[in-house]
Order: sequence, then structure tokens, then C-alpha cells
Amino acid sequence: MTQLVWFRNDLRIADNPALTAACENPGTVRACFILTPDQWQEHDWSPARVQIVIAHANALSGELARLGIPLSFIQAERFEDSLRKLQNHCTELGVETLHFNEEYGVNERRRDKTIKRRLDDLNIRVCKYRDQTVAPVGEILTQQHEPYSVFTPFSRRWRSWIDETRPGLLPVPKARGGAVIPEKIDTIPDAFRNAPPPLVPTGEHAAHDQLERFLEERGGDYKAQRDFPAIDGTSQLSPYLANGVLSGRQCLLAAQQAQGMGGNQEGLVTWINEIAWRDFYINILYHYPRTSMHRAFKPETEALAWNPPGEPFEAWKTGNTGVPIVDAAMRQLNQTGWMHNRLRMITAMYLTKNLFIDWRLGEAWFMSRLVDGFLASNNGGWQWSASTGTDAAPYFRVFNPVTQSERFDPDGDFIRHWVPELARLDNKRIHDPGAKGGVIPKGYPRQIVDLKESRKDAIARFQALKN
Ligand code: FAD
Repeated sequence: MTQLVWFRNDLRIADNPALTAACENPGTVRACFILTPDQWQEHDWSPARVQIVIAHANALSGELARLGIPLSFIQAERFEDSLRKLQNHCTELGVETLHFNEEYGVNERRRDKTIKRRLDDLNIRVCKYRDQTVAPVGEILTQQHEPYSVFTPFSRRWRSWIDETRPGLLPVPKARGGAVIPEKIDTIPDAFRNAPPPLVPTGEHAAHDQLERFLEERGGDYKAQRDFPAIDGTSQLSPYLANGVLSGRQCLLAAQQAQGMGGNQEGLVTWINEIAWRDFYINILYHYPRTSMHRAFKPETEALAWNPPGEPFEAWKTGNTGVPIVDAAMRQLNQTGWMHNRLRMITAMYLTKNLFIDWRLGEAWFMSRLVDGFLASNNGGWQWSASTGTDAAPYFRVFNPVTQSERFDPDGDFIRHWVPELARLDNKRIHDPGAKGGVIPKGYPRQIVDLKESRKDAIARFQALKN
């Protein structure tokens, strides 16, 4: 009797509930991964992300092969035909049970319901598992059994759930007979060929090395350093977490171990809190499907009349707004596929408040560039910045990108690196070269909007929603 594990957003063999459950059965265990390039394009996946997903899937195929579990790559286009192909695959292999870990986007949930219905008709069992979060999705609820829509109480309950439950990790399953020859994908779908060089090395071992190194060397200083983009102060684990090469539980337990070994508690507690943010946004996606259907969490904000994107949007996308910190960040994104969290907030707020351009356009642009594009966190971050989401930044609290720049890139190192036109300016002028009649270096644009006026205008437009 064959057990089939369908890998999707969980590209690892350690701490993988679907794989572990399949391996608890005595029969043959097989695995598959389905490539759906047209669907990925529709979901705005970036070339950087697709390339890293394929590289991780190849690494996974190698790890599974060592355990005696062959992984097949199935070529499809969109979710619809992936299901037909998966169904045929199950029939050909005589699959008894299909195992997979849940995903929470609306299209993914529809896809999973459809395959369950179809396999039920063929008497093939479907078993799904809650893997993506530390506390199983849907488990962290208010006393009234409602989902939380504010982060702080969610995180309090999340932490007490961890203390009560003490979640553990699932080990790598035992090898099932001799190793097999791994199948590999060696072509990148056409639409995704053009990507920046990989940001992080491929595979589960590399992910664990990076986690350990971060906790040992920088975890303790995380609280003090995490907001400064010129410092390597964050873990850069997001490309692994976004594709399930590393689980949130593995991160939590490693951080708790570092705490037990006397690491700087403040830094580690702050870092664990970021894992809670990730879980929070996944829960939001699960409980409020509209957030994955291009709808605002706060329905009243649907009435905002956003500006037409036009040239300002192009300037933002290419890093030519005349606000150095915004331009440096957007250029970092375009050239590497990654952006520091502080800068994600600054650039998102600048787009939605100063340029008053619809957050959905920014969300899609980020997704189409990010190597760690992850629907729940990207949507959560964008709606937070645009004041349309849960726990949103109140609409009247608008970051001033120049002040943010002075505070979080005080010596202008980050700007100098990404905006070489400004490299010769002193530490003060670099944040706002045109201020007080300053001469703007040749080749660098003047600010495309007035920061004060546009801030006032945005607040007024939000206030008008109340009338
Ligand atoms: P660390 O600071 O080391 O944090 C560790 C992990 O915690 C991260 O890898 C991530 O998985 C999680 N995390 C940290 N901050 C957040 C947060 N605010 N929300 C949710 N999870 C968090 N994160 C993504 O993984 N994918 C995205 O597509 C994404 N888009 C974003 C868009 C906007 C507008 C904003 C404001 C934030 C977005 N984030 C996204 C969250 C955050 O910016 C990144 O997770 C973080 O910068 C990744 O760097 P790191 O791994 O060094 O994080």
C-alpha cells in the first residue's frame, strides 16, 4: 500500500507532520512536488522565489532519496491541471493515502478541497496536517472563541499556549531501505529565468547552519540592532521560512535553547516575538479569507479613492522618488530580492500615504520581486502600513521617511551603498539632499511629492471616511 506525500510549502524532511505520518505506515512511501508556473505567475511569484523553490525542491529530493523515498516532479501549469495530474499519479502508483500539510490562501484551500473530493470518489484517503505555524492554525482564540485581530493579545495567548503545551519537534523519519537515485529539475520555467544571484545557500542543512549562527552570534543583540539596515542584525531566515525549509517550531525551539544557555534574553525574546507575528498573519489569512482576495481587512477603507499610479508608481518601483532611504530600499529589493523589515515599512508607508497609491499595487510589486514572498506576511505588512489591516498603524501616524532615515541609517551607510549618486554627501545632507535649498547631485531626482503636504492630505482622506 503506497503512501504519497505531496510537498508544497514545506520543503524539508525534519519536523514535517505529513512526511512523519506517511512514514508511520509500513508500506511504500513516495513523494511528489508539482510545478505550476502559470499559477505562480498569477500569484506574482518572483523569479528569485521560483528559482529558490526549485533549488530547495531538488535538495529535498536528494534528502528523501537518502531515506529511500523517491520524489517525482510533476509538470503542470495551473492548479486545475495539477489536480488532474496528481489524481492520475495516485492511480498509477496505487496510492492508499495522500498526505499533505495545509496551506491557507483561498486558491490553495479550494485546490485542496477539490482534490479531496476527487480522491474520495476513488476511495483514496486524504490526510492533511497543520504545520505552518507554531501553535496549530485556529488554535489561538480569544476567551469567546473568536480569532484575534490585534497582535499583542494574540502574542500573549500564543506564549501561554507554548508554556502550557511545550511543543516539540518531529525527528527525521528513519530510512526505508536503500537509497534511491534522486529525480532533479534542471530547467527553470521561462518566465522566471531572470533572477538576482541567490541570497542564501540552498537546502535544510544550510538553513539550520544559518539559524544556529544567527542565534550564537547575533540573536542576543537582535533587539538593539534589528532596525538598522546597514547592520547585519536580523536572521535573513525568511527565504527558508517562506518555503517551509525551516519550520517556525524549529526556530522557536532553537531560540529557547539559546535562552537556556544564557543568551541575552531581551534579544531572543524580541526575536521569538517575530515568529509570533508570522503566526498571527497566517491566522489572519486563515480566519479572514478576504485578505487573500485583494480585499482590505477593514472594509470601510475600501472606499478610499487612491491616486492613479502613473509615474509616481514607476518612480517608487525603480527607486527614483528623490527620498534617498526609499530609493535605496527599492534598489536593494530590485537587485537582491530582499529588503530589510524597517525599510519594508518605510517604503510601504511612503507609497500608501505620501503617494497615496493603492496598497494592493505595492503588495503585488513586492511579491513579484521578493525571494521570501509569503502571502500572509506580505499582505499583513502591507495592510498594516496602509492602515487598512488588523492592528493597523493608526492612519494619523505616518512615518516621515527622512526622519526614519536619520534615525535608522544615521551615517547614511545604507544609502551610500545603494544610491551611489549620493555617496559624497555628508551624513546630514544624505537623508534629504534638496533640503534648505541644497544642491541635488547630478542624476538624482528632486522629491516627487512634498512630504508634509502629502501626509496631511492622506490623513484628511482617511478622516473623510468617518463622515
Ligand atoms: P528576522 O527579523 O530575523 O525575523 C525572523 C522571522 O520572523 C522572519 O524570517 C519572518 O519569518 C518572521 N517575521 C519577522 N518580522 C515579521 C513580520 N513583521 N511579519 C511576519 N513575519 C515576520 N515577510 C515575509 O516572510 N515575506 C513577505 O513577503 C513579507 N512582506 C512584507 C511586506 C511588508 C510591507 C512588511 C512591512 C513586512 C513584510 N514581511 C514579510 C515581514 C518582514 O519584513 C520579513 O519577514 C523580515 O524582514 C525578514 O527578514 P529576517 O528573516 O531577517 O527577519
